[in-house]
Amino acid sequence: MSEGTKNQPANASRDELNPFHSMAHQFGLAADLLELDEGTRDVLRQPDRELTVSMPVMMDDGTIEVFTGYRVQHNFSRGPCKGGIRFAPDVNLDEVRALAAWMTWKCSVVDIPFGGGKGGVICDPRNLSQGELERLTRRYTASIMDILGPDRDVPAPDMNTNEQTMAWIMDTYSMHVRRTTTAVVTGKPIAIGGSKGRREATGRGVMLVCREAMKKLGRSPEDTRVVVQGCGNVGGVGALLLHREGYKVVSVSDMYGALYNPDGLDMPAVMDHLRGSGRLEGYSSADYIVNSEGQLELPCELLIPAATENQITSKNADRIQAELVVEGANGPTTSRGQEILDSRGIMVVPDILANAGGVTVSYFEWVQDRMGYFWTEEIVNSRLEQVMVRAFHSVADMAEKHNVNLRTGAYLVAIDRVARVYRMRGVFA
Ligand code: GLU
Repeated sequence: MSEGTKNQPANASRDELNPFHSMAHQFGLAADLLELDEGTRDVLRQPDRELTVSMPVMMDDGTIEVFTGYRVQHNFSRGPCKGGIRFAPDVNLDEVRALAAWMTWKCSVVDIPFGGGKGGVICDPRNLSQGELERLTRRYTASIMDILGPDRDVPAPDMNTNEQTMAWIMDTYSMHVRRTTTAVVTGKPIAIGGSKGRREATGRGVMLVCREAMKKLGRSPEDTRVVVQGCGNVGGVGALLLHREGYKVVSVSDMYGALYNPDGLDMPAVMDHLRGSGRLEGYSSADYIVNSEGQLELPCELLIPAATENQITSKNADRIQAELVVEGANGPTTSRGQEILDSRGIMVVPDILANAGGVTVSYFEWVQDRMGYFWTEEIVNSRLEQVMVRAFHSVADMAEKHNVNLRTGAYLVAIDRVARVYRMRGVFA
């Protein structure tokens, strides 16, 4: 992502804010500890395939606009590529590359049989009508469909895409292959092959890893104040579930500002307000902080950045007051930010573990679509819990064994699994 955009602290260096550099740095630390040979390192560091497409779209006023989109497939050693598609004005290839690699490591940490991929389209969905969004989504699908498919690459929602976007992708793909192919994409509406529990899965996974990490820190929900950056599918659902578990959620934010109430927010009422007005602003039982300036530095025990990349950096990490950071977003902490948090003894549950609940239930959705047999919400939630709890403890054990932080622990688990499979399969020539 470029420097100095609306959501990013100015002054952090360009390298620090480049998500692909961050990913490569984290990868390098773990690869050293695993004593990975140079060749395997090269293979696992680079994306396997990158596609850039130009997409003409007929706008509502009759003009033609050309959009740019990407799909990056990082690695498919362990199965088809898996990962979301985001629509945002500042999408760029380095960001999509990093996000694709993070998906490889994420799928490996929770041990589901997928590799990693990611897609992005440069656009501002707020300035597009529903019809324009539909035409753009269908054109993007048609442009990348040679590399998609239930056994090749299976997209899902990400920033500014949702169940409706996935329905359009499924339909466009199905019309081309001449049969309804639900398993080509996950995060669909339930009526067309979506899974119960998928919509809440990322937030539920965040709640579950908070619970496991809190046990390690010897804290109970009642004496834990929580600040959540974001209020969407990850932050909003996560905050609601944490509130239900008895945590005191003192702040949540959207792209315009943050709510703050040191006595705790009534999260169901906040979410009702947000659904009604589309913004947090105007909710009466809390203070409103415009632009969320300083939200991450509010007094709390648990901080959940669940918005976007590069939020905890060399510029603000020394002012974070939490004891525990759980990364709901992908890449919210830069490498330098992590070093500062480490030096201050703040525990960080990394993105590739903390937000893996979404892709885990995506896996369940893909399995159900292929079986044509659908599970109850209770089954989905209890299988998700098993996966998240097991993954958390395998990462914590690995971190303890090597005396490293949880992020490096997660990379060690993930890279080791992918490297083993890579060696088993051998090099095709
Ligand atoms: N976009 C989500 C993520 O970053 C979900 C990916 C998926 O379900 O494939 O993990």
